[in-house]
Amino acid sequence: MKVPFVDLKAQYLNHKQEIDQAIANVINDTAFIGGKYVEEFEQNYAKEYGFKHVVGVGNGTDALFIAMKALGIGPGDEVITVCNTWISTSETISLTGAKPVFVDIEPDFYNINADLIEQKITDRTKAIVPVHLYGQPANIAKVIEIARKYGLYVIEDCAQSHFAKFDDKYVGTFGDIATFSFYPGKNLGAYGDAGAVATNNEELAIKMRMFARHGALKKHHHLIEGINSRLDGLQAAILNVKLKYIHQWNKQRLEHALYYNELFEQLVPQVVTPKIRPNATHIFHLYVIRTPKRYELKEFLAKKGIATAIHYPKILPMQPAYEYLKHTPDDFPVGYSYQSQILSLPMYPELTKEQIEYVVESIREFFK
Ligand SMILES: *Cc1c(COP(=O)(O)O)cnc(C)c1O
Repeated sequence: MKVPFVDLKAQYLNHKQEIDQAIANVINDTAFIGGKYVEEFEQNYAKEYGFKHVVGVGNGTDALFIAMKALGIGPGDEVITVCNTWISTSETISLTGAKPVFVDIEPDFYNINADLIEQKITDRTKAIVPVHLYGQPANIAKVIEIARKYGLYVIEDCAQSHFAKFDDKYVGTFGDIATFSFYPGKNLGAYGDAGAVATNNEELAIKMRMFARHGALKKHHHLIEGINSRLDGLQAAILNVKLKYIHQWNKQRLEHALYYNELFEQLVPQVVTPKIRPNATHIFHLYVIRTPKRYELKEFLAKKGIATAIHYPKILPMQPAYEYLKHTPDDFPVGYSYQSQILSLPMYPELTKEQIEYVVESIREFFK
């Protein structure tokens, strides 16, 4: 049996007619940049999510950069984020001229350890950027509490967590700005690069739209210098179709994860399965286990036709790009010890029970 890591083709075939029609409409209307499909998606996404303002942008990395620029983050500032995430979260901090300050992760939920944030705050700290990693909400209540106490901004990186919930509220709706990626492999994915920023603050929404459109709200009237970061019409039209199914897909992912967890019960402690934070709805962008023999298992599974991945093989402070911060593994004991143990197993809505059983059976065989 073959089990791919994700199967975007299966999803396309399930909704082929609708998606083909959406693409044909954009071409027919030559609504490639801006236009009604982008506006429609911005409005639909805002409505579905409960945001007052959504601005479509080029990708999730731009979304973070645009959010930080709108908050006035720049040289001399420090921004606190988490050591285990995709580099977009921290490289955009540096791109503004500010300094990324990394925090270790929680042992159970793999997200920023909110109890370690306060000790990293200085008089230069301007913002906290928690990431809701793998589809699991970070401890956002605690992050917000700290941010209020010290007068800091919060940007929630929701690239992996569209419609995940914390205390029955969608992640992204707690902080000042939420950023989203619609990279094809994300839970809500376009057919190319796409992203969005979202907020309930009108002033921030205007600033972000302006910055992403060359500093202009009206054509040829540039109030500031900005960048060019656009969600294009084709991506918006595809996202408009896919938005109708996101809740169903997230639910399927959760069901698959619970089935994996159940089947793995006999394999504990060789396999540590993901826990779900109490009062949270995990949407399982990734299903990440921990096992001491990670590389051997990965190779064994590859031979059995099962694709796996690692998110992430090195915590960011240990990457060459951040050597200048002079961190040692002791600064991030949890993240550092997990980086050699984590393994992401196949996870996508169209995954079948048989495939999940085959993956778990193969892992059982490996440990025999
Ligand atoms: C994917 C991702 C991003 C960046 O999104 P792109 O659309 O690829 O630029 C940012 N943060 C996290 C946590 C991500 O997983």
